Amino acid sequence: MNIPRPFDTLIVGAGLAGLAAARELGARGRSVLLLDKGRTAGGRASTRRVEHPALGALSFDHGAQFATARGEAFRALCEELRVAGEVVPWSPRWAWLGTPSAEPEGRGIRWIAMPGCSQWGRGLASRLGERAELRTSVTVSELVRAGELWWAVDTSGERHGPARSVLVTAPAPQSRALLAPHDAEMAEALAAVSYAPCIAAMAAWLAPLDLPFDLAEGSSHLGLVVREASKPGRPAAEALVLHGAPDWSAAHLDDDPRASARALLDELSRALGRGLPEPAHLDAHRWRYAAVLRAIGKLHLAAHDLPLFAAGDSCLGPRLEFAFESGLSAARAIVAL
Ligand SMILES: Cc1cc2nc3c(=O)[nH]c(=O)nc-3n(C[C@H](O)[C@H](O)[C@H](O)COP(=O)(O)OP(=O)(O)OC[C@H]3O[C@@H](n4cnc5c(N)ncnc54)[C@H](O)[C@@H]3O)c2cc1C
Repeated sequence: MNIPRPFDTLIVGAGLAGLAAARELGARGRSVLLLDKGRTAGGRASTRRVEHPALGALSFDHGAQFATARGEAFRALCEELRVAGEVVPWSPRWAWLGTPSAEPEGRGIRWIAMPGCSQWGRGLASRLGERAELRTSVTVSELVRAGELWWAVDTSGERHGPARSVLVTAPAPQSRALLAPHDAEMAEALAAVSYAPCIAAMAAWLAPLDLPFDLAEGSSHLGLVVREASKPGRPAAEALVLHGAPDWSAAHLDDDPRASARALLDELSRALGRGLPEPAHLDAHRWRYAAVLRAIGKLHLAAHDLPLFAAGDSCLGPRLEFAFESGLSAARAIVAL
């Protein structure tokens, strides 16, 4: 790749917000360097793949499950990805794990990515075009301004850039650490953002469990249970993702993850009123910054007198659509500089 230096914009974080910004900047002819500490793009829209000796390929969407699209921009994206075969509507059998009740109305179409949630990021990243470069497994520890240009320094001391402007899209505590040395007001706004953590258990069985739902919500410990095989394009094995409820996850965040996964299975068993067979696969992931509880309430943040921006779900709230809208808004502000 031969992108002229300096880049127009350096983006920290290649989740939905960073990718939305990169895509918009690319469409306006701007060059972009995207850095992410993960092994792939997508952030919390993520899929864990496991090769099991007896069950073969397993796939767990252990972060975000599905997107809903209310605004024009995200609706247009979902339609574009539907035509490309990358997202499809999902119509799960729904159940409430607490007191029996009907599913609330007006939730709209649930869009899921194919063949896993990580395709939101993979697909967007693969179409960023000639003037964008994505570097993964790069953890940015510092942003340095040299003259009119910015550099990102990673945890091994390597410098990435330079670029004329910077957009940081990491969860608020991580963004704040990078932005605080440059803009106190942005740092203050990010400090006010709070998150609920989520312990996500991933379990699979050798035989179907005969569950009366594909998507269940709402016991005191369990926020959500999803049958992965009910989503189009997934392996057929009986694989469940169980999300701990926010308070329960916070109380157990530092416990042994497998013990937490077992506790969530026990809770499902209690809710179903019957025992569950021993899973053939059991694992857990801890999301420290899963769902924004208190958002900033602005589309994006901008520094007063520097070409420095922040976006992400910390701005509008915990949804793929909000992250996308925030990145888009920051990109438009960068173009307008
Ligand atoms: C368990 C769970 C369930 C959810 N369910 C849903 C759902 O069903 N529907 C829905 O709409 N939303 C859901 N969400 C919320 C949704 O996933 C997020 O709102 C959205 O993905 C946030 O996107 P983002 O780009 O703002 O942040 P992220 O996706 O977190 O992207 C930020 C990126 O920054 C990178 N990063 C962080 N620090 C650094 C650094 N120092 N250097 C380099 N890179 C860095 C990270 O690796 C990450 O890729 C869920 C989230 C979780 C965790």
